[in-house]
Formats: sequence, structure tokens, C-alpha cells
Amino acid sequence: MKNNPWLERACAQVSGLAPYVPGKPLDELERELGIQGAIKLASNENPLGPSPAALLAMREHAASVHLYPDGNGFKLKQALAQSLNVALESITLGNGSNDVLDLIARAFLGAGRGAVFSEYAFAVYAISTQAVGATAQVAKALPADHAQQPYGHNLAAMRASITEQTRVVFLANPNNPTGTWVEKDALHTFIASVPSDVLVVVDEAYIEFVDDDADFPNALAWLNEFPNLIVTRTFSKIHGLAGLRVGYAVSHPQVAEVLNRMRQPFNVNLLAMEATCAALGDAAHVRRTRSLNAAGLTHVRAGLAALGLTALPSMGNFLCIDMRRSAHAVYDGLLRLGVITRPVAGYGLPHHLRVSIGTEAENARFLSALQMVMDSLA
Ligand SMILES: *Cc1c(COP(=O)(O)O)cnc(C)c1O
Repeated sequence: MKNNPWLERACAQVSGLAPYVPGKPLDELERELGIQGAIKLASNENPLGPSPAALLAMREHAASVHLYPDGNGFKLKQALAQSLNVALESITLGNGSNDVLDLIARAFLGAGRGAVFSEYAFAVYAISTQAVGATAQVAKALPADHAQQPYGHNLAAMRASITEQTRVVFLANPNNPTGTWVEKDALHTFIASVPSDVLVVVDEAYIEFVDDDADFPNALAWLNEFPNLIVTRTFSKIHGLAGLRVGYAVSHPQVAEVLNRMRQPFNVNLLAMEATCAALGDAAHVRRTRSLNAAGLTHVRAGLAALGLTALPSMGNFLCIDMRRSAHAVYDGLLRLGVITRPVAGYGLPHHLRVSIGTEAENARFLSALQMVMDSLA
């Protein structure tokens, strides 16, 4: 777009927009290095893959893909309403929760309006905000040496960033890429303090990984209390269906009605609809994934400690590791050993590397590759 005045004039609000940088695809790395058997720990995907029930549902319905899917997504909304104990009318389906975040920005933001989110917050908030010409009102995060939540969301700073202009607050709990979270009482007090004409989006993409005893909020429980609350969730993470692209929002039915009016009618495809319904019924797969992740977090943390490294606190399926040096060379060294991780310099964390928790074998391979890279850089 540089040196192209007419194009810059034509789409002014996106000229300063940095694109979302996804994890490097496995086959791309294997092609570039001429290797096989690389592993990807870069996008917080489920290392166990999709639920077998979801695979079966897709096979069963493959012959029906000449038909349009149900534009209302009734079957999936009904399954979600039942499983989450919410009203069907409160659900908006999306092509991934990124689609829902985008719908929220299109519905409530725009030129002259602002969205508040934290430093180090999920990148899509900034992209969706800027894409509709709204202002990103970025709140300072907690300091790097904070005892409980280094680099975590600072709710007081977020509240102070809300102005007359603000229409939306985005908050991921737990957050990606840091893994940090906000606790129940603090989040409740924060939402109660937000003016009622400002929507609060609580992005719970990783909530199914949170262990049950934690003082961790389930924002769905507050929907009746706060009509300006929107909770977003996804099938991409614990359900292992990232490639199908299904996420959803739960909100006041009138908010859902607004979002549904803006939605592309067939944003969730037929196979995705069937697979997600089946995945919702497969509690065993979710349980298996959660316990694999819990064991993996312990395993990787212990391995990092043996290397003299630490990671931020995390309630997700990933760790954000402090490399205490530019993480880029480490990322590069790991790539050459066939291990894809995620550098987070683009988030303002140039010394950190985010790694997804994999299977036990993948975690062990990551740790030994990391040791080799550290030795070679020492
Ligand atoms: C992965 C992730 C999502 C999910 O995105 P999808 O579009 O549903 O795949 C949403 N929010 C956060 C914070 C994430 O890390």
C-alpha cells in the first residue's frame, strides 16, 4: 500500500493495520527445511486432535454438502443452550470466535468510537477495532515484576481508559499470549463499574482448561445481572476443531439480535455444525484433553526450571516463557530442529516465546530441542 496514494485514500483506516501473524504451518516448515516429522506447538491446538464423535459426524454428513447449512444454526444453538444452560436467543454463532469479535466491532464500533483493551491482549481486538476505523484505547498492563500476574490485565487501568468515546471493552480470561487471568471478585467489580452503554466482551477461549478449584469467574453466570456483557467461546481450543472455524457469543438476547442481523447467514458450514454438536456431547474427550494439559503444564514447567527458565502463570494450554534474551534466535533454532513455537515480539514481548502444551512426547521433544538451542547460543 506504500507509494499507492489512491489505495491509501480508498481504505484509510487499514493503512496502519498490522496483519494477524498465525503460527507457521507444519507443511510450510517441512517444505522449507526439506524435513519430515516436525511438530507444531504454536497455535494452542488440541494435541489429541478432534473428538472421534466429531469425525464420525462429519463422515456421516459429508454427502450432504451440496445443501446449504441451516442459516439459523438451530441444532447447534439448541445443543449449546442446553449444555451451557442459557437461552437459545442469547447465542450468536461465528466462523470462529474471531468472527464474533469482528461482528461486535462492526455493530458497536466505528469512526469516532473507541475500544478499551490491555497491552499484551489477544491481537484480534486491535485488528477488529482498527478495521472499522475505531480507536484502540490501550490500557497499561500489570508490571513485569507483579507478584501474581506479571504482564496481566490491570483492571483499574482498563477502567480509567474508558472515556465518553468508548463503546466496547475486550478482555480475555485467561489471556493469550500471556496465560494470565483475572479473578472472580475483581472481574465482577470491574464489570459493575463499567457504564451500561459500554459493552464488556469477556473472551473465554480457554475457560475449559481452567481447573475447578480456582477462584476463576465463569462470566456466563453474570449475563442476567449485566445486559452489557458478552461472553465469547470457541470450539478451536479444548474441542480440537480449530480448522472447522466455529465460535460463539452469549449475550443479552437483544444484543444477540443485533449481532445476528449483521452476521453472514451461512457463517457456520454444514459439516462444522454437525461436528460441533457431536463434540459437545463428547465430555470424555474434553476431560482427557484437560488432564493431558494439566500434566503437560507440570512437565514443561519442570523442564524449564531445569534449564533455569521460568514462564508466566498460565491457566491456558500454553506457556509464555521468559528467555531473558531476544527470543527470536531461540525460535529460529527450534524451527531448525523441527519444533514450531510462537514468538510474541509483535505483542511487545520480544524476550518471550509462547509454546503450546502438546502430547507427552511432543513436550519432551520441545524441552530437549530447547536445551540444544540454549547450549548452542550460550
Ligand atoms: C484462540 C483464541 C480465540 C479463538 O479463535 P477462533 O477464531 O475461535 O479460532 C479467541 N480468543 C483468544 C484469546 C484465543 O487465544
